[in-house]
Amino acid sequence: MRRVDESTSACLSPVGEVAFIKIRELALLRREPSALSPETIRELKSRLILKSGSATPGQDRLYASRIASKRATASSGPELHIIVPTLQCAHSCQYCQVSRALDSQGFSLSAEQVLAACDLVMQSMAPVLTVEFQGGDPLNRFDLVELAIEALAHHPERRNRPIRFVVASTLHQLTEDMCRYFAQYDVKLSTSVDGPAWLHNKNRPLPTRDSYERTVTGIALARSVLGADSVSALMTTTKLSLEHPEVIVDEYVALGLHEIFLRPLSHYGFAKRNLQMLGYTVEQFMTFYRRALNRVIWWNEQGFSMREVYASLILNKLISSFDAGYVDLQSPNASGRAVLVYNYDGHVYPSDEARMLAESGDISFRMGKIGTPMETLLESPAARRIHLEGAVENDDNCSSCSFRSHCAPSPVDAAASGVATFTIPTSETEHCKRTTALFDEMLKRLAAARARDPNLEKLLQRWSAPAGAGV
Ligand code: SF4
Repeated sequence: MRRVDESTSACLSPVGEVAFIKIRELALLRREPSALSPETIRELKSRLILKSGSATPGQDRLYASRIASKRATASSGPELHIIVPTLQCAHSCQYCQVSRALDSQGFSLSAEQVLAACDLVMQSMAPVLTVEFQGGDPLNRFDLVELAIEALAHHPERRNRPIRFVVASTLHQLTEDMCRYFAQYDVKLSTSVDGPAWLHNKNRPLPTRDSYERTVTGIALARSVLGADSVSALMTTTKLSLEHPEVIVDEYVALGLHEIFLRPLSHYGFAKRNLQMLGYTVEQFMTFYRRALNRVIWWNEQGFSMREVYASLILNKLISSFDAGYVDLQSPNASGRAVLVYNYDGHVYPSDEARMLAESGDISFRMGKIGTPMETLLESPAARRIHLEGAVENDDNCSSCSFRSHCAPSPVDAAASGVATFTIPTSETEHCKRTTALFDEMLKRLAAARARDPNLEKLLQRWSAPAGAGV
């Protein structure tokens, strides 16, 4: 149950349904549901929030299978494998915790470590695998990316499992030959576009001051060889971005990008030291986010089909039967179970944030060295800690939270936000504050859409489907 406004409350079901009822009906729902109006009872039953008095075993099985479907990401074994072949990157972004200059030595995996990481990927029991190359910029070590793709695609333990390859890159180093190679394995490219040239180039400085131009050239090259939908982009919101939400969204439209991921700045590692200069509050982010989201919706109304990824992920939790597989929003916390990170330093981490935390000296979330058997990694002290501290029932804030079926505490975030070795209460973590604000925002928009804007309701419903199911 979650209050939406003075008169409306949202009832959330763990199977991915939301019903809105009047506050005055709440007491009745708790005390004597049969006394509710027939329309309210119908609504609550159709959304599986009230059980039908005559529920059959078939309906019970349906409910159980919908719960299982919503928990698939957290229960089917590591599906997302992030390989960080190198930290080398030409950029010197102030907010980036990890990158190292192109000539830095000792910031890349060895070929043996890459192959050992691939063996580990194949030890996962997940029926579908996603392998994402991150950095630094992985295209600086295309040789290692190619080595991994070949090893994975032809691995004896693959057992015909589909593998989705993604390379996250600035695309500055992208060549036609690389594109032709990626075409063989249907590799998708993910890049960063922070906004128009003046904003992007300020956020992502290069000595040549042409980061934006080079990324746009890379997008065009990829599209010409790999197809129009081969590149997706995401943006990082900096203090400078906060005043320009509409301009940023418009830039995505101008580039013909039908998805935008409005991501806040991560407060981990090195960025934490610069927080005074670069940081902003969750409230400031939400002000920016609302304006940007309004603009995305406006573009859809103008006939340009566009999806905002963060809204889609939240809506997927709230109103979809199928889980989109977003590892940051799972209950219990799925770091180290649904996702593993094979880092350039030769160690395996439970999440991207955990490897960033390690950059600032906290290596307590290391699961083990690359090459350690999967079983041992999944039983490592770091994995057990996340399992224990990432369960809603073990956390005072989460056990009574309305979103506990869709979200769980983030022990990595609590450690990153803590002082010295003391972690802070979950409700004070960035993860919790941002998640709560985003869920509340989408509940408000959904309630308003259902009440008076059927077109918007249809759009939100479409967004809630897992990505790939259409914008
Ligand atoms: S982390 Fe926050 S939003 Fe998530 S379940 Fe816990 S209390 Fe709720």
